[in-house]
Amino acid sequence: MKLSFEAVTLDLAHPFTLATSSRVSTPVVFTRVECDGLTGYGEGAMPPYLGESHASAVAFLQRIDLRGFSLATALDDVVSYVDSLADGHCAAKAAVDIALHDLHGKACGRALHDLWGLDRSAIPFTSYTIGICDPDTVRQRVRHATGFRMLKLKLGGEYDRETVSAVREVTDVPLCVDVNQGWTDRERALDAIAWLGDHGVVFVEQPLPAGAVDDTAWLRERSRVPIIGDESIRRLPDIAAARDVFTGVNIKLAKAGGLLEARRMIEAARRNGLRVLLGCMTESSCGISAASQLAPLADWADLDGALLLAADPFCGAQLVDGRVMPTTAPGIGAWPR
Ligand code: MG
Repeated sequence: MKLSFEAVTLDLAHPFTLATSSRVSTPVVFTRVECDGLTGYGEGAMPPYLGESHASAVAFLQRIDLRGFSLATALDDVVSYVDSLADGHCAAKAAVDIALHDLHGKACGRALHDLWGLDRSAIPFTSYTIGICDPDTVRQRVRHATGFRMLKLKLGGEYDRETVSAVREVTDVPLCVDVNQGWTDRERALDAIAWLGDHGVVFVEQPLPAGAVDDTAWLRERSRVPIIGDESIRRLPDIAAARDVFTGVNIKLAKAGGLLEARRMIEAARRNGLRVLLGCMTESSCGISAASQLAPLADWADLDGALLLAADPFCGAQLVDGRVMPTTAPGIGAWPR
């Protein structure tokens, strides 16, 4: 097997503003793993809050030597080798894990969801994300978001209630809300969440900072709206601890280190009675197609990352009746444009 990679900056269609940051582009790394005439494609997106960069990803990927592996090697063994090289580097690891899964699927001639025995008809609607902006811009974005059966609003800015009211003037689709750790007072957060519940919000993601464990548990205890952990949850060991704090967890390939770990996290979440949101970064249809293979296992999907780009360098999973559906092509079902 041979690994190659390229660090790329993807431009966003609109500036993307969260409670803690704003950006107009996103760094990703694209990978290829080649073996016996087949090519697997992968991607790892590196939003600033996870601490990875082009430089760290390239330094990590240069350490990987796949020459000793072949299509006869168990996929889990190759992924474990990559994971064992260093702690962290989850987006870079995800880029390799996805390419290895794509290669494996192609060698078997089957889509990953098919290999895993998953039913595409169980895939939930995906939400479409609207970053923090003023109420007029929100109305405009919502009017353009036709084809979505659920919207995700980023809150934690100055106009939270005005934003929700502006959306409700335009549409009555279910909403979910992501605060990205933007609130600090648990009593005010509880009031805000009750108000959001009255306005058709089906869950609230990471209302308080990741370190505010006791306050988040207090909030979940009192909230009738599910509270989902995102920044608090990265890899498998975080799942058991989430049981006492959150209603559910947001699992993303770029945080987990790829498909193998994400599948294990979903299984662990179910064992611990947690609901599952399958999320993404702002990334191309390469990473999104990989994540969509797992979507039948999720309660909610937030796989709109490729739709937020100015130009998508891959094709693959498509929005069909409000759901991001994987293709039936072998592997992750994505290919470069
Ligand atoms: Mg989030």
